[in-house]
Order: sequence, then C-alpha cells, then structure tokens
Amino acid sequence: MINTDTIHGVHQALKKKEVSARELVASIYERIERLEGDIGAYITLTPDMAFAQADAADRAISSGDIGPLTGIPIAIKDNICTRGVRTTCASHILSDFLPPYDATVVSLLTQAGAICIGKTNMDEFAMGSSTENSSYKITRNPVNTAYVPGGSSGGSAASVSAGMAVAALGSDTGGSIRQPASYCGIVGLKPTYGRVSRYGLVAFASSLDQIGPLCKNVTDTATMMDIISGHDTRDATCAKRPPESYTSGLGASINGVRVGIPKEYFIEGIEGEVSAAVNGAIQDIKKTGCVVKEVSLPHTPYTISTYYVLATAEASSNLARYDGVRYGYRVPLANSLLEMYTKSRMIGFGPEVKRRIMLGTYVLSSGYYDAYYKKAQQMRTLITQDFMDVFKQVDVVLTPTAPTTAFKIGEKSDNPLQMYLSDIFTISVNLAGLPAISIPCGMSKEGLPIGFQLIGRPFDETHLLNIAYQYEKKTTVCSPTIKN
Ligand code: GLN
Repeated sequence: MINTDTIHGVHQALKKKEVSARELVASIYERIERLEGDIGAYITLTPDMAFAQADAADRAISSGDIGPLTGIPIAIKDNICTRGVRTTCASHILSDFLPPYDATVVSLLTQAGAICIGKTNMDEFAMGSSTENSSYKITRNPVNTAYVPGGSSGGSAASVSAGMAVAALGSDTGGSIRQPASYCGIVGLKPTYGRVSRYGLVAFASSLDQIGPLCKNVTDTATMMDIISGHDTRDATCAKRPPESYTSGLGASINGVRVGIPKEYFIEGIEGEVSAAVNGAIQDIKKTGCVVKEVSLPHTPYTISTYYVLATAEASSNLARYDGVRYGYRVPLANSLLEMYTKSRMIGFGPEVKRRIMLGTYVLSSGYYDAYYKKAQQMRTLITQDFMDVFKQVDVVLTPTAPTTAFKIGEKSDNPLQMYLSDIFTISVNLAGLPAISIPCGMSKEGLPIGFQLIGRPFDETHLLNIAYQYEKKTTVCSPTIKN
C-alpha cells in the first residue's frame, strides 16, 4: 500500500518509483472530482499547470534529482498571488484578477518542485472564522459536512484533511491557519512575524499577516517551513536571518523543557470536551519529559478588542486600493468619479468586509484616533510584554487552539461577535508576532477534532516544531474519519 497521505509518504513513493508525479496528480484530481461537490474547498483548479509541473517533476526524478517537495501536490489559499492564475481573495471585487507575478512563497515552492493543485476557498479577504464569508461558496468540514471547516483558511484545511492536496498554504492574521487546522484535525503553523515573506500575499492587516503551512503532521510542517521561510528583499518586514533547517531539529530531546499554562486561557466558556482533551495533552506533554507550570498573561481579556481595532484599521487602509480604477471590479455605469468609487465598492465587497472597513475607518478618524487606535497600540505593547515576561519563566506556552470544536454551518453567521470570540486563544499570538502551532489532541463524542496550541518565543520555530513532534510521536490521536 502506498502512503500518499503525507509529504514524507509521497516523497518515498516517488523516490522508489512506486508512483509517478503524473499518476499522483491524476489521483488527486480524481478524488477532488468525487469529493469537491460536498466539500467545496477550491475556488480555482489548475490542472494544466499541475500536469505540466508533474511532468517536470517526473523528469527531474528520473534524472535522480529529487528534493523533499519534488512532485508534492499542494493547495494555495486564494489570497496568495499566482502568476496568471486568478487570485480572488474570495471577493467579487477581485473576481477577474490575474496577478502578474508569483508570491515569493509560490516561487519557492515551485522551484522546489512542488505542484500547485489549485486555489482554495476562504473568508473574503481572510476576514472570518468559518469560510462562510466567501463570496463564492461555503466550504464544509470534511470530517462532518454539517459543520464549518473553520476559517479563514477553511479551503486549505479542508483540502488537506480530505486528501484533496497533500499540504496547503494558508495565511494567519488572528488564527486563520491554526483554528481551521484544529477544526479539521490537522497541523497548522503560524510562523513568527517576519519569518516567511509576505510578498504577494494580498494584505489584510499588514502588521499581523503571516503565511504558513497546513499539513497532516509535524514533520510535513517542518518540511514546508524549510522551503518557504527565509529573508526576502521584496518584503521589508521579512527578517534577515540565516536559513534554518527545521526538519533537522526534529528528534532532539525535550527533557526539562518548561511548558507554561496560562491560567487566563482556561476559562469558563470552553467546551467540556475541549478542556478535557487539552488537559489530556498537558498530561501527555509531561510524559515527553517537559515540566509544566502555571503562568499568567494578565492582559488576555483585552486581546479581542485590541485586535478588532488594529486589524480593521489596517484593513480599511489596505482595502482602499479597490476603488475600481486600477484593478478589480468597476461598475459599468456611473455619473461621476465618486459614484464610480462608491458603487464599485458597494457591489464588489461583501457584508463582513464592509463592516470591517467602516469600523477601521471610524477608529482612525480624527477625534477618535487617540481613544481607539492609539489605545489599542498601547495595549498591543502590554500584551507582547506579557509574553516576554512569561518567556523568562518557560520555553513555550500551551493553550487550547479554540474554545469549541467546529460549529454548525449557519450557527454563528448572523452573530459577528460570537464569531469573533472563536479566535480568543489565537489572536494574542499575532499581536505579539510570535510563532504558534496547532496540533490535534483528540476528538469530541461526535467525532469532531480538537486541537491544542503551542506558542514559542520569536523565531523559535525549530524548538516549537520539535516539541510538537515529540508530542505527536508519544501519542496516538486517531485521525478523524473522512469519506473516501
Ligand atoms: N477570524 C479572524 C478575523 O476574522 C482572523 C482571521 C485571520 O486570521 N485571517 O479577523
């Protein structure tokens, strides 16, 4: 039996010539053909490109040139630019947008021989936690299609979870990689701010956005990070640090590593099954030799409000460029320039995006700036300082990824505040610019996956991935059942 579930499994099969990249891509599209109608993970499929890349990978393999990502089928979130391939951000305003260039992460993946299967569905401009805010379609959780896959990288998480891609790229501004990973029973890493180039990532909130991988396991996540991370002169916020090999860091002993449990994260409102599973993970982490200790992140209650001031402020500014002039949707008929702007944006943007633009414009407006934006920036500093203080006592912090398992489709779509609360454990990480990974740690009685989050010091991904790896090795969390 060939294991084509993981990057590592596919790599072995390709190397031993048990399967060709072309056969593999054909089998992925055949699976998409069967499952996509129920799941809706993709906005655009790119079979022509994928088969051409597969042939190139097969040629490379037959000449003995095979890297860890050669011939690996990957899905890409639709806010990451792909040259000549429609990149919509799940918005009508970009429905015809063909980027003239590849995002740095896409160039790195293709240079490494990876194959792009398609562009995945998401909440419009990455604003949401359920993928229900897409202007095109909803995505369903492959584990149980009555439930959301999480968001905003719901299409990426669903594609990997359902075997419609071997790995995927997502983006995370407040939890959009980690929360869907936990809802779909897979691993998702948000790297340190500046670790991975944002060049070619359509901006939502530039001081928070990071691209990262969604994979079946920790080894695959490290493999993806080996390729996509590193300095990029085209992104001024990308850190100038020597390249690191995250995969070679896997396996080191973690005896004595100090794991902090922030008391503010184990609050009322967490579903009983989630806290039971996360408490189980804490016990398992102890078995790997780690020392567990309670810590405090006192400004935690302010994270959601801080985030929704700063993220919306940045979004209102970033999204000002969609005015019907240079690119994106433009109404065909308007009597004045102002009417053209107004109508193009009114028709082009969906309700959640408009809500955020209004909120963001308000908090930046003169007279309110000091009360909202400036205060939120000050609070961001305090939240970051909380983590820096905690990292003097412990090496990593462990929390649930989300307070609940996946919710039902439609359950929270009329209640934005409820929806915002599903990111309560992930947002502070973006505010502080830290790396964090979500790892599966169990399942609810209904069979819905539960994940926990490990948060690391800035640029400590090697360590973070190794702790996650050691946990994964020690435990046997059963994978959720996915229809074949
Ligand atoms: N759910 C959060 C929001 O709606 C985070 C989204 C994200 O990380 N892109 O803003």
